[in-house]
Amino acid sequence: MTKKPVIILVALMLPFIQSFHKLEPQQEKPKNIILMIGDGMGLSQISAALIANGNKLNMERFRHIGLVKTFAADNLVTKSGAAATAFASGTKTKNGFIGLTQSRKPLHSILEIAHQRGLGTGLVVTSYIQHATPASFYAHVPDRYDYEGITLDLLNGSVDIAVGGGRKFFEKRKDELSLLDSLEKRGYEIFNSLSKAEKKSNSGRMMVIANHDHMPPMHAGRGKYLSKAAEFTIDKLKKNENGFFLLVEGSQIDWGGHANDKEYIINELIDFDRAIGRVLDFAEADGNTLVIVTADHETGGFSVEGGSLQNFEVIGDFTSAEHTATMVPLFAFGPGSEAFTGIFDNTDIFRKMMAAYAFELEKP
Ligand code: MG
Ligand code: ZN
Repeated sequence: MTKKPVIILVALMLPFIQSFHKLEPQQEKPKNIILMIGDGMGLSQISAALIANGNKLNMERFRHIGLVKTFAADNLVTKSGAAATAFASGTKTKNGFIGLTQSRKPLHSILEIAHQRGLGTGLVVTSYIQHATPASFYAHVPDRYDYEGITLDLLNGSVDIAVGGGRKFFEKRKDELSLLDSLEKRGYEIFNSLSKAEKKSNSGRMMVIANHDHMPPMHAGRGKYLSKAAEFTIDKLKKNENGFFLLVEGSQIDWGGHANDKEYIINELIDFDRAIGRVLDFAEADGNTLVIVTADHETGGFSVEGGSLQNFEVIGDFTSAEHTATMVPLFAFGPGSEAFTGIFDNTDIFRKMMAAYAFELEKP
């Protein structure tokens, strides 16, 4: 026999090998990372939203899924600041700390490192811009409730675009500083609503402080703010040729958990999932973006006890008004996403993001 059949077989397979290669962009490094945190989003919260949304969520589009251990350095049950510091900087810290080690040494966050390396950086939240989760990416304070102190850390300039609430900590401060003026002098455009920013912004550096307080909850009419803010910020950041890092937080899923309010959780989670859909649409088209969706912890010890898929009905109950230590899910999409499967610590999310960007870890 000749070798002819083998050659023909290889020739026939060639187009498939090539197209298979095209379907596997995961081999490459992402240019952009979008980290999406559902605060207090455990599996039961997701399950409740899935049922209430007609048995479908955008989260079902992910193929790489992991489980995250959420423990803080000093407590099995983490608070949002310690958990976000773990994602942001790869170090477990004490509950209540933001961007500091247990011995109060400032940590470098993935957002700050990305900024130093010339990438664009952004934060989009439904809470104050200064709330524990986003603050852990740019601030370094031992008290997460020191909102005025956290606001001062925005002056260090590592955040190019921030969208959220918390205007009261820029104005009418105890130290009487006018931080909006200071930010303007540092080259930031300042907007008090997303729609004004959408119409008037002409740079890639801005504070969109869309409410005096937190952003309103969904049940008080927040509408499609989160999806629109995420799309707006991506649209700005993608102009950066070095790539970008963006944090998007569904901040209020947690507050529904603390309030043991099932409808609050479901409404906030479906809104967060809509933002996930918009972000995945961008990432699919872009091909160069790693999207990671996870939670800082579960809130409320929530469980789904019954209900009906036909009626979109959820019967649920809570075992706590606080956070719990149950592992939380993680979903990843895009180049580098295969590294996010299995069971790992919340600090590993930082190391995996650093590896995905091909940034070297600092020596401790
Ligand atoms: Mg939060
Ligand atoms: Zn909480």
